Amino acid sequence: MYLNVTEIESAITNLHDAHPGATEIITPPHPTHEGRTARLLRVGTRPVDEVPAILLLGGMHAREWVPPDALISLAADLLEAHSLATGLGYGASAFTAPQVTQVLDSLNLFFFPCVNPDGRAFSQTTSATWRKNRRPAPAGSTGPSCVGVDLNRNFDFLWDHTAKFAPNAHVHTSDKPCDVQVYRGPAAASEPETRNVVWALDNHPQIEWLVDVHSAVPVILHNWGCDQNQSVTPADNFRNPDLDAVRGRPDDGIGEFIPEQDLQIGVELAEQMNDAVRAVRGVDYGVDAAYGLYPTSGTSDDYAYSRHLTDPAATKVFGFTIECGDTFQPDFGEAEQVIQEVSAALVALALKAPEVTHSV
Ligand SMILES: [Zn+2]
Repeated sequence: MYLNVTEIESAITNLHDAHPGATEIITPPHPTHEGRTARLLRVGTRPVDEVPAILLLGGMHAREWVPPDALISLAADLLEAHSLATGLGYGASAFTAPQVTQVLDSLNLFFFPCVNPDGRAFSQTTSATWRKNRRPAPAGSTGPSCVGVDLNRNFDFLWDHTAKFAPNAHVHTSDKPCDVQVYRGPAAASEPETRNVVWALDNHPQIEWLVDVHSAVPVILHNWGCDQNQSVTPADNFRNPDLDAVRGRPDDGIGEFIPEQDLQIGVELAEQMNDAVRAVRGVDYGVDAAYGLYPTSGTSDDYAYSRHLTDPAATKVFGFTIECGDTFQPDFGEAEQVIQEVSAALVALALKAPEVTHSV
């Protein structure tokens, strides 16, 4: 059975109680519109300021029921294996006891399993296909679809798509509150759930990698999502207002700049994750730049990577999105298989991320 939002919070408490030396509960400052507080669980034996960290997000989209369960399951697996000094196996994706120790003793993993608890509760009790959060409908808007914001269009990265993209870029977001899928919200980072993710990044400069776990395509995405990547023209970037009328179109000779080295790191880590997924039961998610799925603005992965470009004091954070499985709410037997795929991917990332990122 899928965890409900109360069970997710209980699991965080229970994992901390069982493994106090390897975990810390972190409470973000912004309650949701319905007054819920979704917490984070830091997993790792080293003090937070001593080692690099990965931020793992789940449950941003309400109807995507697998990712929060996957993150709780992985946290539990890692903590149990570490305490028993055993390895972990997900199908043919196997990790040794020393590798489990390496993950917990050389990194911190910030699990934020359910970013959007109001949405999950609504999806699990009332409307299974719900995607957004539960911001009340604006005055004068009526109808159930006018509630809510798509949190993964609400981050402060090219958020104002009507001003920042070519009209024919077909960027996958909306300024219409009654868009039931992709309403971007009344302002960038208007939503408490979005601000909690920003807060986690602001307060933990050790975070160098962010993985936002969604479903279901499947695919593993790396930066960028706003336009095609290019590594030859630094001036063609998201801060350049000259591109506001043309940004986002395919094959027009103008793309979003990413240094070749950063692109290589993103691709290599995404491929490491995909290799680990494939070993579980043979499913090939594939790897792509986020733009390859569709052009986006206001997403968590691009926001994370953009931070060091808009603020020189900010840590460079490589952003990834895992779109796991091929349906939003598979029967739980299938969900358990997808959870193994996500778990294998994230352990592989934790093992490889420091080496791949810091060796170049
Ligand atoms: Zn999603």
